[in-house]
Amino acid sequence: MLKGKTAVVTGGTRGIGFAVVKKFLENGASVALWGSRQKTVDQALEKLRAEDPAWKVIGMAPDLGSLQEVENAMGRVKEQFGRVDILVNNAGISARESLYDYKEEDFEKIMDLNLNAVFRCAKAAAVLMKEQGGGVILNTSSMVSIYGQAAGVGYPASKFGVNGLTKSLARELGRDHIRVNAVAPGVIRTDMVAALPEELIEPLIRTIPLGRVGEPEDIANAFLFLASDLASYVTGEILSVDGAAMT
Ligand code: NAD
Repeated sequence: MLKGKTAVVTGGTRGIGFAVVKKFLENGASVALWGSRQKTVDQALEKLRAEDPAWKVIGMAPDLGSLQEVENAMGRVKEQFGRVDILVNNAGISARESLYDYKEEDFEKIMDLNLNAVFRCAKAAAVLMKEQGGGVILNTSSMVSIYGQAAGVGYPASKFGVNGLTKSLARELGRDHIRVNAVAPGVIRTDMVAALPEELIEPLIRTIPLGRVGEPEDIANAFLFLASDLASYVTGEILSVDGAAMT
């Protein structure tokens, strides 16, 4: 479904991002896997190469807090693969503190990665996509961007922001043939969720009509659809992939 396309996936070392990288490779794309540390990037590359040495995958660890570094890294992807067709903004962190314990610097940290870095990566990619005649930008939202969350206010606030960026960029970049969409995962079995206490997870599962937490591959399949030409007239959408969960 992605033969001949080149993709950048942020936070590609584990969890949802790793599943997206794998799914895109299986579907014929060349992929630049970005992570926060070169060591974890190299470990992820090793796993992928062990699975299929023919997969075209490179890794890098730019600081997503710096527009200059992001632009340089995006330029290196273009040098290596010739173009950048798809960007998946997946890197993200979460926190559950109550407002009374929430430190200002923690709020800023979460906004900087979950929202500001999406702006930086989208900006760096859009310049290249416009030059080459189009592309696809996909963001990672969350079900809490619809309902909010009763603790850790920075996380849902950042994801509401991601929805706003997604819808606005879709309107702004449509004329450059750049589609912009987001996937809003529900509760997905990754390290982010494993870090939550059992007493939070159990009641969450009980609210999910499909009766299970999601797997990273459930989310990767949605990204694959949105990245592919099957979604050629889909832009500005926030696609919920959450088993109809309600929090
Ligand atoms: P995870 O913790 O397993 O992986 C997060 C990824 O982000 C890792 O690859 C990590 O290296 C990267 N990352 C963390 N800090 C970084 C930094 N400072 N710079 C660059 N990269 C950094 O998380 P996950 O569950 O796979 O989540 C991936 C995305 O999905 C996030 O945006 C998250 O908000 C979203 N999401 C997850 C769930 C869920 O239930 N797991 C639900 C809704 C949304």
